[in-house]
Order: sequence, then structure tokens, then C-alpha cells
Amino acid sequence: MENKDNKMEKIVSLCKRRGFIFPGSEIYGGMANSYDYGPLGVELKNNIKQGWWKRFVHQRTDMVGIDAALIMNTKVWEASGHLDNFSDPLVECKKCHARFREDHLKSKDKCPECGAKKSFTASKQFNMMFKTFIGPAEESANVAYLRPETAQSIFINFKNILNFSRKRIPFGVAQIGKAFRNEITPGNFIFRTREFEQMEIEYFIPVPKKDKDWNKYFEYWRDEMKKWIQELGIDLKNIHELEIPKKELAHYSKRTIDFEYKFPFGQDELYGLAYRTDFDLKNHTKFSGEKLEYIDPETGEKYIPHVIEPSLGVDRTVLAIILEAYSEEEVKGEPRVVLKLPVWLAPIKIAILPLSKKEELSKVAHKVYEDLNQEFICEYDETQSIGKRYRRQDEIGTPYCITVDFESLNDKAVTIRERDSMKQERIKIGELKDYFKNKIE
Ligand code: ATP
Repeated sequence: MENKDNKMEKIVSLCKRRGFIFPGSEIYGGMANSYDYGPLGVELKNNIKQGWWKRFVHQRTDMVGIDAALIMNTKVWEASGHLDNFSDPLVECKKCHARFREDHLKSKDKCPECGAKKSFTASKQFNMMFKTFIGPAEESANVAYLRPETAQSIFINFKNILNFSRKRIPFGVAQIGKAFRNEITPGNFIFRTREFEQMEIEYFIPVPKKDKDWNKYFEYWRDEMKKWIQELGIDLKNIHELEIPKKELAHYSKRTIDFEYKFPFGQDELYGLAYRTDFDLKNHTKFSGEKLEYIDPETGEKYIPHVIEPSLGVDRTVLAIILEAYSEEEVKGEPRVVLKLPVWLAPIKIAILPLSKKEELSKVAHKVYEDLNQEFICEYDETQSIGKRYRRQDEIGTPYCITVDFESLNDKAVTIRERDSMKQERIKIGELKDYFKNKIE
């Protein structure tokens, strides 16, 4: 019964109604393609980021993290090639003056905005970095850019990290943070925005001795990314791995695979995996004069390592997870919308729902809530009918609901309802913590 055509509209509406994602600056009429994460959205996003950090930093011995400044010395962007190369082809309709990214146009013969035929200007390269000025004087000497990717701050800190951590190659550095791109055509909700978050790893490997030596690391990270995608509850059948043709590779890359997700608006990039060679460390060495090299402690060999980069967008992850988890069912003739999120991602783990507002019941229910809320994120709700409360929790993906009824006063037990199966179980209040520890952790 699910209608694919308006799935995006349904998701956008659910996200707003249920406090996941709001349109940015809404009371002032909004701001093109900017979004704010609400109380549930921030929990979901934090779960993704914390899960990623745990899996790729804490649980590994070959990885460390950093959190660098968003605005860096302009020389960083000279050295990385972003000042010269980080641009998209821009065309403008001569009739309505709407601007488009040329490679995103379905047809160059007709303006999608006003319908004018053959009305586009010749394309010119538009640099996507956001410019700003440092200090009060808006002079060219004070120009700075907001970072368009998190990667470069890892490269420029290579020496500091190495001195401190004494990691041996191969090892990686991870970072989660905001990136900014002045996209010509943002859109499709949080898929393409001008401000977004990335989770990136730069994985440093030895200089390839033979031609394809680096490929085993590339294939390893390709597998790791697929495992991560599955842990998000995303079915790999909805993922397409696109091998980027040589002539379309970014200026720093020798091999790139885009992990595309089947979004309702079309198959498009969720994540990227690139072999960046030694391009960045080499250029930063050249531009800064600092030797960004590694000394092998056993052989004494000095070299500039090569790099494999798994690059993941947090916001596109949020979107893909919600799309994948969204399901519509019919239960006893009534429609039921459920967000079948993996338990570890659900913003609220347990909802406590007393069947009556009477004081004797709410006293017991509140105690259950206060106890469980110390360990799991819980919500207490005593408004509306129990059916409506279940529906709300289903829509926000809460895996467990607890109902407290008058029987609870006698048998010191409550009923637990599981989200997907809707199966109910009676559990003693004193056993709840252990029960959920097994289920949730
Ligand atoms: P696209 O081709 O869609 O513009 P890209 O190839 O430029 O993306 P990368 O430079 O590889 O993207 O960035 C790494 C990741 O950052 C992407 O896989 C995506 O998840 C995320 N990302 C990039 N641009 C945006 C954006 N404008 N809004 C949201 N997420 C983005």
C-alpha cells in the first residue's frame, strides 16, 4: 500500500510534525534549503555519530580522532587545489535568470524554471567555497573560506598527530564536523544543503611498491562501509556501487567508488570512497615547507604515505535511514505508520504510558519512568487514548512501550509492547532494567 511517488513528502511532513527536522528560519519565511534538527532529530543524528565514532575510532587500535577549526589558513585551500578546482559548471537562463548546475540539468534545451527554449548562457566554473573575511576590514588580504570538507584539517595536522600518537602505518585519523559548500542547486530536503556534516577517515598506507598495492586497503574499506551501511538497517539491495570513470575522477583521486542509495528522487550518492594517493600530504609539504612524512621505526625509511578516504555525509545518512525505516501497514483495518529503526538508532528507546491519569497509577508510572530514564532515553506520555499514543511512538520509531494499568498496583508488573511485532509481554517492575539491558545494549 506504500505509495513511492510521495514518499519524500510523507517523510518531510513526518519529520516536521514529530520533531525530527524543521525548515530553517521558518518564522522569517524560511531560508532556501536550510534545516534545523529538532529534539528527536538531534538524538538520531547523535546516535549515528556516536555509533560511527565507537565503531571506527574507539573499537580499533589503528585509529585516532581530531576536531579541527572550520576556518583555516587560506593557503590550505591553495595547496589542496580547492581554490582552483573545487567548482561546478554554472549556467543561467537568459530569460528568467534562474541558475543551474549544468551537469544536473535533464536537458540543456529547455529551462526547467520558465520553459524558455535554448535560453542558457555558456557554462562557467563557479567555486563552491564560502568566502568570508577575518577581522573588521573586508580586504582581499583578509579573505578566508569555510571548509568544504573535513579532510584537509587531518592532513595539515599529520605531523602533530604522528608525534603525539606514535601510530604505525597503516593507521587512520577520523573526524566528524560541519562542512560548507555554496551549492548552485541544493535540494531534495536534507540530501543537498549548503551546510552539512561529514564523518571522514583518512587512512594512511605505505607507498605502493607495485602498481595496485593500495587496492587491498581500498577493498578493505569498501567492505567496512558496506558493513556500516547494514548496521544502519539499510538493505544492500538499495545500494549501488558506482565505479567513477577515470575521466570523471576528482583532481586528487586515482580511484573512487560512490555508494549510491535508491532515494525516491533517484539513485544518488550516499557516501564516497577515494584513493587520494599522496596528493594532499605532498602538496602541503610543498606549500608549507613542513615535511609531512613518516619514518618507519624498523627500517628507518622516510616516506610520504598514501591515503584511502571513506567519506560519509551525516545528513544523507539520516535521510537514508528514515526512508529505509519508514513503513506503512494495515492493522485491523486501520493504517499504521512505523519507523522500523534499528534499536540503537531510535531517538527514544522506551515510552511509559499509564492507562489512566489517576494519581495512584501515575505515581507508579512516574517511578518506572524515573528509574529507566537513568539508563535509557525514555518518554512519559499520559495524554490522549492509548491507541493514539502507540501510533505516535510507532511513527517516531520507539522500539518499546510500557503500559501501566490498575492490575500493576496488585501484581507489580507492567505490559511491554514491541514496536514491529506489536507482541505484548508482562514483566515485573523490578526486572525491567535487566530486561531492557539485554534488549537495548
Ligand atoms: P555530490 O556529487 O552529491 O555533489 P560529492 O561527490 O561532491 O557529492 P564528496 O565531496 O564526496 O561529495 O563528499 C563526501 C560526502 O559528503 C558525500 O558522499 C555526501 O554524503 C556528503 N555531502 C557532500 N555534499 C553534500 C551536500 N551539499 N549536502 C549534504 N551532504 C553532502
